[in-house]
Amino acid sequence: MIVGVQPLAGFDKLLHYSVPETLRAALRAGSLVRVPIMNRSHLALVLETNAVPDVPVAKLKAVSAVLHDFPALTPDLLELARWMSGYYAARMEGVLEAMIPAAVRGEAQLKSEKYLSLVDPVAPERLVALRKKAPQQARLLEFLQQQFRPVKKSLVLSRLDATAAVVSALLKRGLVREEVRHVERVAYPDNWTGGEVVTGLPPKLMDEQAAVVKSVGESLTKGKFAVHLLHGVTGSGKTEVYLRAVEQVLAAGGSAIYLVPEVALTPQTVARLRGRFESAGHQTVVWHSHLSEGERLDGWTALATGKARVVVGARSAVFAPVRDLRLIVVDEEHEPAYKQDETPRYHGRDVAVYRAKLASAVCLLGSATPSLESFANVRAGKYQLDLLLKRVDDKKLPDIHIVDMRIEVMRQRGLVTLSRVLVDHMHQRFARKEQIILFINRRGYSSSMQCRKCGHVEECPHCSVAMTYHRADETLKCHLCGHQRGAPAVCPSCAAPDIRWRGLGTQRVEEAVRRVLPRARLERMDTDTMAKKHRFRQILGDFRAGKIDVLIGTQMIGKGLDFPNVTLVGLVDADLSMHVPDFRANERTFQLIVQVAGRAGRGDRAGEVIVQTFTPKADAIQFAKRSDFDGFAEAELAVRKKFNYPPYRHLIHHLFRGPNPEKIRFFAEHWVKQVEKTLGGAVEIRGPVPSPIEKVKDEYRFQIWYFCARATKVVPELVKLQATVKWPADVTQVLDVDPMSLM
Ligand code: ADP
Ligand code: ZN
Repeated sequence: MIVGVQPLAGFDKLLHYSVPETLRAALRAGSLVRVPIMNRSHLALVLETNAVPDVPVAKLKAVSAVLHDFPALTPDLLELARWMSGYYAARMEGVLEAMIPAAVRGEAQLKSEKYLSLVDPVAPERLVALRKKAPQQARLLEFLQQQFRPVKKSLVLSRLDATAAVVSALLKRGLVREEVRHVERVAYPDNWTGGEVVTGLPPKLMDEQAAVVKSVGESLTKGKFAVHLLHGVTGSGKTEVYLRAVEQVLAAGGSAIYLVPEVALTPQTVARLRGRFESAGHQTVVWHSHLSEGERLDGWTALATGKARVVVGARSAVFAPVRDLRLIVVDEEHEPAYKQDETPRYHGRDVAVYRAKLASAVCLLGSATPSLESFANVRAGKYQLDLLLKRVDDKKLPDIHIVDMRIEVMRQRGLVTLSRVLVDHMHQRFARKEQIILFINRRGYSSSMQCRKCGHVEECPHCSVAMTYHRADETLKCHLCGHQRGAPAVCPSCAAPDIRWRGLGTQRVEEAVRRVLPRARLERMDTDTMAKKHRFRQILGDFRAGKIDVLIGTQMIGKGLDFPNVTLVGLVDADLSMHVPDFRANERTFQLIVQVAGRAGRGDRAGEVIVQTFTPKADAIQFAKRSDFDGFAEAELAVRKKFNYPPYRHLIHHLFRGPNPEKIRFFAEHWVKQVEKTLGGAVEIRGPVPSPIEKVKDEYRFQIWYFCARATKVVPELVKLQATVKWPADVTQVLDVDPMSLM
């Protein structure tokens, strides 16, 4: 047996090894193995088991160990890895590292414990006799006799204050049996979810839900590849549809992967899945970056061995090694968070669709604001559209008020954080003991520092972006490279003492709210608060339990959370997402308003939304006000079509960076000429141009954009061409296929 392996240690190359007789039984394609490379042992993944080596067989070295009893990647995952590597122009090694958790590759061990139990019940006379001769042994036997199941050895010893020698004696006499059991570290024991586990009978489906469940169910029954796009307004009960689909899969003996865009959304979803399926004996595995190594390894093992058949997690859960995959749910499929912004730069939703295809499974995409990419696929007949037009129990969608901040600024003479309309509504809702969410686009106290007199904005000397003012420690920080310094007291350019802060941060909003509602209990949720593990879950738990009146936060509270007592949502700065150089800016703004509005009025009381904006007439804002997705999609797709932007063509971003701007520009320009020569009419090239952020960590950046009908045709050509160039060490270039952000 000769295997072809991909090392996971900086060698992007297929290497060949022989396999000793003793390891053959455990080794398969997809197995993790250890192999010698230049006299050192390295981790590698088996790609081929019947390889034809490029050197004489006698010269091959041997695989030294196989890591698990089962392959780390199933055949469909291996195929997926190959596809990802090609489609996203990513090295195979990087793809495998993204797919196999570090805990599985690393040194984390399955935790095992010794358990003791009686071999046979012990007769009372025998115990009496033993009590005289060996009282300690007798006590231990009695103790075990009282238990109905094996007991942890460590527990027995500490309880009885006995020594290991006592156990050894009993083992020798054949009265007691010792076994090693694998103990699972279950992520999120139920006491962590703060009473969120919702058990009980599933609700009776609304008519619309029943129709969607049937439609998805038919695809599941067929057992063929299909993609459903569930477009359901906020609060229409999409989750219930997902649960029913998962239920059908479990009943048929299959497995399901359930993706959510944010780690913050996992506890809520896990609670719902566990509440529904745990009592039927189905374990739900949690999968995200906040898990300990041990938790990860255990969850992964449970899935790989088929012990667990449901997994919930963020992006990378799409690689979960489940057996007999039948369904992948992608909740909030429009979320840009599904795109990974480091190599391999894959899109979790698109990978989900491809994996479903490889496994002949169903992919169920859901959103209240589907991405225009998915919507276009429905129009092209590739995806099946399912609709939920009404909220559960016919609850009203919230009313959306638009506040023109230009007028507000004139009225209140100066910088306004909270408009009068918003403040009035906050007073009303607080008086009625209803909850409020205020949503902000940014982090920190406020964003940039701008002089009122000369307009000067403090920028990072390394990154050419505005620095962020942090009030807590009076510093300016760069959020790209981390550079920081003390905040100036007067304008560094004209020395005017009037330095004002543009943009709003969570801290600033918090202060404004404290002035308006001094007795309200406030909590902030932003990237800073999120830094602490478990903190976000605690805040969400408290908010749900009614211990917080006003929740202030950035993006993460705008997504998919369900709090029935929230009746007022304020969007403090709606346009921040609109005035950025990105053709998706309108789509983002529309999504933002609709999603944020969706957090209001989910309980018995109607909800209201107040959107503060300086551009109230913008399309994105007007369509969002009417919750008119179809109207928005129609208008926006017309614009995309006109400029031939995605979804009508694929977009590929090519970044060139390095310390010497002349050299970078030279290489980028030279490269473009070569691409034109090789690919000709297959791509439309724009650039090279300096990136919007020209300098990061003292490296200059130039970018090239390629527009093309088929990325699958163009990317391999670009990769081939890359290999023909001799790149200097100080020129780095990176391809990003289907980028989600244009900054
Ligand atoms: P969405 O994800 O579409 O915004 P959710 O799935 O969060 O909506 O559902 C909104 C609320 O309605 C949840 O509290 C959910 O438990 C409840 N719900 C869903 N379906 C039903 C139903 N058929 N009967 C009663 N309540 C339901
Ligand atoms: Zn910087």
